[in-house]
Amino acid sequence: MLKLDNVSVSYGSFKALENVSLYAEQGELVVLLGSNGAGKSTLFKAVSGLVKVQEGSMEAAGTSILGKPPSFMVKKGIVQCAEGRMLFPAMTVLENLKMGSYVHRRDKKVQEEQLRNVYDLFPILQEKRKDPAGSLSGGQQQMVAIGRALMAKPSLLLLDEPSLGLAPLIVEQMFETISEINKTGVTVLLAEQNAHAALKISNRGYVLENGSVVMEGTQKELMNNEDIRKAYIGA
Ligand code: ATP
Repeated sequence: MLKLDNVSVSYGSFKALENVSLYAEQGELVVLLGSNGAGKSTLFKAVSGLVKVQEGSMEAAGTSILGKPPSFMVKKGIVQCAEGRMLFPAMTVLENLKMGSYVHRRDKKVQEEQLRNVYDLFPILQEKRKDPAGSLSGGQQQMVAIGRALMAKPSLLLLDEPSLGLAPLIVEQMFETISEINKTGVTVLLAEQNAHAALKISNRGYVLENGSVVMEGTQKELMNNEDIRKAYIGA
């Protein structure tokens, strides 16, 4: 589904990613762990075409996506839900959701189908569809952000820190929902500080440090790894 080989990204003379290689098979949920500044967001921006990749190769579903613009990535089914939600607070929940389906603007059937899926997943959003997005709680706003990404009908969903700033109970529900989305066949790449909860719903994962992959493994390998437990799980 997604394959990165020796990808490097620089901001000026600063190398934010250096020779990063990773893959996600169709239907997998792959976690990206790493502390603040490790390069997780940069990696997502590279895959969504928002930053330029200086070296390496990137493929999605067998074709090169290197150097392609974000519009191409979205048409290819690669959709990012950015850190910090980035909603339009004065617009209604429904208006925010509809923005996500811009790529399917000529296909009413797809739009309606995706909206139904989003409302099935997050019934509260149907209830609050006419409310300004900015009036919702943090957890509900995160639902809008994920819902908006789903409106584009992704085959690969990039989720950047979806649990950031949410209360523990809401975090738990959020991870359950992400797992549900993954079970519908959407491949998920999930960047998280909340390592334990993220690993619990994952198939595999990578650890990024200072722009490089320092570890990779299956869910079990990473959860049982002493260094990961100390650094990211705290047990
Ligand atoms: P966080 O969770 O805090 O967002 P992250 O792992 O996602 O961290 P990135 O945001 O990818 O990390 O940042 C990686 C490094 O690149 C950091 O040192 C950051 O300061 C730097 N960086 C990010 N964006 C830019 C930019 N536009 N210009 C210069 N440096 C940047």
